[in-house]
Amino acid sequence: MRRFRYLWALPVALGGLVAAATAVVTASPAAAATSTVVTLQFDDGNADQYSTLAVLNAHGMHATYYVNSGPVGDADHMSWAQLTDLAAAGNEIAGHTITHANLKKLKTGPARQEVCGDRVALFDHGFAPVSFAYPFGGFDAAAKQVVAACGYNSARGVSGVDGRRTFAETIPPADAYATRTPANVKSGTSLAAIQAYVTGAEQHGGGWVQIVFHHVCDRCDAYSVTSADFTALVEWLAARAATGTVVRTTAEVIGGPVLPPVAP
Ligand SMILES: [Zn+2]
Repeated sequence: MRRFRYLWALPVALGGLVAAATAVVTASPAAAATSTVVTLQFDDGNADQYSTLAVLNAHGMHATYYVNSGPVGDADHMSWAQLTDLAAAGNEIAGHTITHANLKKLKTGPARQEVCGDRVALFDHGFAPVSFAYPFGGFDAAAKQVVAACGYNSARGVSGVDGRRTFAETIPPADAYATRTPANVKSGTSLAAIQAYVTGAEQHGGGWVQIVFHHVCDRCDAYSVTSADFTALVEWLAARAATGTVVRTTAEVIGGPVLPPVAP
């Protein structure tokens, strides 16, 4: 249902370009590849990520925040009230396990505790999580099964789009429980390099570009983006809507229902 509503929105974003192909767009998800869809993603619920809310609000843009429920509210992480603020503004709150566990190293029981238990905790605090990201990008076939069984509609890794042979994830993804991304943004990643993730997709048939951030600060961490670069990126992306490149949350790209929470 949500997927079809999303596909209907694409011709609006693309203006007259797609008018002649409307029947195809509504019938075939593959037609969505004529557009580039960007998702701004923040992992781990780090406290400095809360500063992104004002920037996103200023441009009517929404991001996806993959949080670990365990450390929410401690000195280094956003509080439940802050996560509620993000969600109230239209951002997506998504799962990332309770303790940032590498699922590849866990047996099924503990893995379910980390994934299903985390999702239950997010529901208990008023969220409706449908998207998941693997901590450390660590997953295997068993981990994918656990994530699906816990009621998530998608799960994201941390690689797979290399900018040489692969320029974007497809819409819908080839494997919804192993979605692919360009290299995560590090303190040495320039604004131009992040923009090239987007233009690379635009120049190679479009698709889904998941841009993964961890910290928003002046090089406080190896995986950080400066507030100035993030603001400039958001402004640059806002201007690209006119030419068909849009920003959506993971849930908006994947679609599907909110499945009920599953006890570990
Ligand atoms: Zn993480």
